[in-house]
Amino acid sequence: METLTKQDEELLALAKAVIYKNYDGVHYNHTVGAAVRCRNGNMYIGVNVYSLHGACAEMIALGNAITAGERDFECIVAYRGGEDEGVLSPCGNCRQLLSTYMPKGEVILEINGEHKKISVSELLPYAYEVESE
Ligand SMILES: [Zn+2]
Repeated sequence: METLTKQDEELLALAKAVIYKNYDGVHYNHTVGAAVRCRNGNMYIGVNVYSLHGACAEMIALGNAITAGERDFECIVAYRGGEDEGVLSPCGNCRQLLSTYMPKGEVILEINGEHKKISVSELLPYAYEVESE
């Protein structure tokens, strides 16, 4: 585990800002914000969308980056808004997604009240390997 850099703090601030801006406390359709940083330094944000099959904020942020042409991801963080606000650990589905799209990347987590970075491979050891050419 690593401590956060200034760039990581910036990424976390982006995830926080995007859910503050879009938090839906009435329907709880948008409760989590995420931000992903590419190795070139570009950062992208997203919020979750909720329905029968919704999408997590990490998916939206990654999809946003991919749509813009990015392919090389370094670090991601998800932040829950509302009364229980704070850094969120990625769900199982997102762990697989991160393992597929950023296997050498890192995730910001809150561990014992402190923000730390952990590698995607540590977060999902022995991951299912999606075939690629
Ligand atoms: Zn998820």
